[in-house]
Amino acid sequence: MTISERIQAIQSSLPPHVTLVAVSKTQPLAAVREAYDAGQRIFGENRIQEMTEKWEALPKDIEWHMIGHVQSNKVKYMIPYVKLIHGVDSLKLLVEIDRLARKWRRQVDVLLQIHIAEEDTKFGLSDAELYDVFESADYSSLTHTNVRGLMGMATFTDDTAQVRREFQHLKTLFDQTKQGVGKADFDILSMGMSGDYTEAIAVGSTMVRIGSSIFGERSKP
Ligand SMILES: *Cc1c(COP(=O)(O)O)cnc(C)c1O
Repeated sequence: MTISERIQAIQSSLPPHVTLVAVSKTQPLAAVREAYDAGQRIFGENRIQEMTEKWEALPKDIEWHMIGHVQSNKVKYMIPYVKLIHGVDSLKLLVEIDRLARKWRRQVDVLLQIHIAEEDTKFGLSDAELYDVFESADYSSLTHTNVRGLMGMATFTDDTAQVRREFQHLKTLFDQTKQGVGKADFDILSMGMSGDYTEAIAVGSTMVRIGSSIFGERSKP
């Protein structure tokens, strides 16, 4: 199947409340362009420099999402154009994003990344750290950053019961947090990748990040 056939097959299999982020990291411009021509407008990248190069080269109606781990000192390169930052996992980073967004007079949407996997290599806040963020004075004084929801990555395993448990945990935390923050636009739950998006949707994902099922296997990480 071609990229555009895969995009269309996945798009038509998703429930209407689930948004597809096409993960184009490591893919050449031509591949992104093919997905764009098939109607895809939301792309996810995990390196700021690569995302910025693609943003410069490709049509400006693309929504760029940063899905990878973000270092504070690199935020400035994406603030002029980034639409949604999925991997925010510290208050310090949130404050830095807000400072730069104010400087650029932009409103930037972010998700807080929660650690739900068993592996300790994956980034993210614990449940307790999440509550601390919302209770902090820094959170209350954000002016140009809108926390739209949560993001998480399940353990990389064939054990679908475990994957579902981890996603269910994140969904429960999302529902509780949504009640706590009392914001109607706290409405994005980003979970599910090529190998596990069916499980994620079954437990309430509203945004899936899919790379290899669209573009094929990546040659480099
Ligand atoms: C690479 C990546 C994806 C997409 O992974 P696939 O297995 O290729 O679908 C999703 N989310 C994050 C955070 C990633 O880094």
